[in-house]
Amino acid sequence: MIIIQNYINGQFQNPLNDEWLDNYNPSNGEVYGRIPNSTGEDVDVAFKAARTAFPNWSEKNIEERSRILIKISELLEAKVAHFAEAESKDNGKPINLAKAVDIPRAASNFRFFGNAITQFASESHENVGQQALNYTLRQPIGVVGCISPWNLPLYLFTWKIAPALAAGNCVVAKPSEITPLTAYLLGEICNEAGLPKGVLNIVHGLGTITGQAIVEHPNIKAISFTGGTATGAHIARTAAPLFKKLSLELGGKNPNIIFADCDYEDMLTTTVRSSFANQGQICLCGSRIFVENSIYEKFKRDFVAKVQQLIVGHPSNTSTNIGALVSKSHLEKVVGYIDQAKVENHTILCGGKKVTVKNYENGYYLEPTVIEVKSNECSLNQEEIFGPVVTIMPFHSEKEVLEMANSVKYGLSATLWTNNLKRTMRICNQLQTGIVWVNTWMLRDLRTPFGGMKDSGVGREGGFEALRFFTESKNICIKY
Ligand code: NAD
Repeated sequence: MIIIQNYINGQFQNPLNDEWLDNYNPSNGEVYGRIPNSTGEDVDVAFKAARTAFPNWSEKNIEERSRILIKISELLEAKVAHFAEAESKDNGKPINLAKAVDIPRAASNFRFFGNAITQFASESHENVGQQALNYTLRQPIGVVGCISPWNLPLYLFTWKIAPALAAGNCVVAKPSEITPLTAYLLGEICNEAGLPKGVLNIVHGLGTITGQAIVEHPNIKAISFTGGTATGAHIARTAAPLFKKLSLELGGKNPNIIFADCDYEDMLTTTVRSSFANQGQICLCGSRIFVENSIYEKFKRDFVAKVQQLIVGHPSNTSTNIGALVSKSHLEKVVGYIDQAKVENHTILCGGKKVTVKNYENGYYLEPTVIEVKSNECSLNQEEIFGPVVTIMPFHSEKEVLEMANSVKYGLSATLWTNNLKRTMRICNQLQTGIVWVNTWMLRDLRTPFGGMKDSGVGREGGFEALRFFTESKNICIKY
């Protein structure tokens, strides 16, 4: 049994009320740990530690802050195997994925923002006629709140914490209660790296209690949130009267648009990955596949054949392609969409059933599922499923596919497969998404703005956008 504790003021602590929540291992459905069921009192203790640490941290030499963040990155890199094992056990994702992507990316987040802060420049404007100089300071906000989801636990947790710390803020952070383990392990690394106590505080617990307390705290002045759209709307309503700065990274229903003139084999292999990586539980997965009519039947055959080769298995097995879904309730939600497809007479081309993995019969496994839908209006094409389920349907014209791609409430990302440059330019200009990948998927560069339009969020993360979010600008005008 792993006992996870809060990390406050550089120390591991039990919740003040001594109440705990069970933590499940999705690969076998067993409880393997417990986490604090923290309340507003714990959040306030964390806030006070952060507030005390703020003057020293914010006034530290930028090189010194940068050095500590890069040290955290190095220590994480040295422990990739250990962290990957923990992440895989906590989340159900294949160990290979955690080792190759999640943990290295968490390390990159610290390295990237440790370097980025040393290059973060502000503007100045001289008005010679009026003999005045304007210059803009970018000052840290103070104590900020970071709240993250379960799908890419350490990857997204650190994507917020690293820029917040780099910019000179102190942080009260809450990982998802469903996947708290690697955030817990991060505390030790921060101490080892010499992060001063109180600069980062990690409070575990339920969104509706611990998360809500962070959002409601009158002196936590900015909230960076990644999670579901409904939660984001609730947070926005709570934070608005308190005039907090908000960054919201929310759900998606991303189109994957395939034209006949694309590099077919590359598209096919990447589309299997963009549909089912991390059991389809990535906000950027292409969950609606639109295929040009002339290659539709061929694509359908080839895609289904490749998907049927994916191995559903225990996350720690290195041959596993599809691990366990994160929780029993999430598995049931995803299965609900498959049931809905049957009721609405869509065609399940492959998958659709729960999988029993030998020796792990109570794990949350589901076959990768491809559903041919009748129209883009159905709930399967409009609502975020967030599991190993994709829909496919043909299109006949650029106009038609653009309309379908844009006619959802979400606007996070899109993928486009074509070798026609003019068409690429036209479609990229008109897609209502914050991110478009052309002839690739999830090729990330941490300098680029990241985030969604419409109900997929407000604001952008990544590069200097993140450093701007975590700072207040102050303009100074000097008459000389
Ligand atoms: P969720 O909204 O249920 O929870 C996210 C986090 O918010 C958790 O830590 C949770 O405890 C906390 N929370 C819940 N209620 C809260 C409240 N009232 N106040 C404060 N915090 C609260 O989301 P989830 O199920 O953990 O994650 C899946 C969702 O996240 C999907 O919709 C997915 O698309 C989205 N997501 C978006 C991005 C992106 O970058 N846009 C990335 C990953 C995941």
